[in-house]
Amino acid sequence: ACCWRHNFQQAGGGQEERSEHGGEDRHVAFFHAAPPRASSNAGRAFPRRGAPARSLRYATGSPFQNPKSKLQPPPTGYAEHVEDRHGHRISYLRLSITDRCNERCRYCLPQEKQEWLPREGVMSYEEIARVVRVAAGLGVRKLRVTGGEPLVRRGVIGLIRALRAIPGIEDIGLSTNGTLLAAPDPEEGTTDTVAQRLADAGVRTVNVSLDTLDPASYALATGRDYLAKVLAGLDAARTAGIRGIKLNCVLMRGTNDKALPDLVDFAHARGHLMRFIELMPVSRTDVLEENTFLSTLEARQRLEERFGPLVPRPDFRTNGPASYFEVPARGQLVGFIGAMTNLHFCESCNKLRLTCDGKLRPCL
Ligand code: SAM
Repeated sequence: ACCWRHNFQQAGGGQEERSEHGGEDRHVAFFHAAPPRASSNAGRAFPRRGAPARSLRYATGSPFQNPKSKLQPPPTGYAEHVEDRHGHRISYLRLSITDRCNERCRYCLPQEKQEWLPREGVMSYEEIARVVRVAAGLGVRKLRVTGGEPLVRRGVIGLIRALRAIPGIEDIGLSTNGTLLAAPDPEEGTTDTVAQRLADAGVRTVNVSLDTLDPASYALATGRDYLAKVLAGLDAARTAGIRGIKLNCVLMRGTNDKALPDLVDFAHARGHLMRFIELMPVSRTDVLEENTFLSTLEARQRLEERFGPLVPRPDFRTNGPASYFEVPARGQLVGFIGAMTNLHFCESCNKLRLTCDGKLRPCL
């Protein structure tokens, strides 16, 4: 990830330049809009390495279009995708809408006293929607609303409705800790849950952080005794008809390494997709230490002690870097995100991230 980010920046990331898309170009500093041209990568699922830098192709019936999507297809003339010089095709934008969170995960926001960004330092919803309009014109088709905890920011459902209305955006997902999904929507003054409002607003998939099913370990990992709220939130999401529910567990030796098989059983019983993520030094370098890091390989071995050999399923992919394996006796798929140990982690990346203070990052 780091060398890709480095190379991407060397390739001219960060320069300001006018684009062809309605003048809304100040936020798309990483992209060069080029006139349509024949691509040497036509017809390839992923382009050849060493493809020309920052080429841009224009849609002629986008293969990125999700046939089940009820959202808007891209208008004719919109770009199908942007490529960097390593051939990564960018079609997916993660939107961090707040730095605030109601939990204090040890690997993310461990300090109790948190200095939040001042309100004026956080992008307004209008600004976020404006960036998304430009990004859609450049080939972004899928959004994931994240944070901090996105559900602590007021008006998030209104934002999702606004994003949904942007032509070209075909899919909107949400990443949440799940604690507020079962709460009544405070904006609407009704008894509908937040999960129901999200579903009604067009959210198709929800990724919920769940590191353990043991209340004491949950409180230790997240700094809050909210496991029951998360479980209620998962029920609310299912009741709301959200079918694409993924559970994300960050692997932590000494905290949840013994809990992994129970999480897999839980996901199986409820029809969720379970994924295990290696601890990354994303916010503080000292979260990742030898005595806390647990690799996806070791996690797999722990699962195999309970379930027998897991079978690789390279044919199964979601819109991300997880490698999937099957628990053969029950046909259950389990994902492993080896951010630190998988040498091919960055190869198929199609994402950019917009931080809540308006920075565009070419890496998670
Ligand atoms: N609050 C939301 C949530 O819990 O999903 C969205 C933001 S959270 C930062 C997004 C995801 O990043 C969660 O699945 C979380 O577990 C994961 N994450 C946070 N810090 C991490 C770290 N140091 N290493 C690996 N994953 C991390």
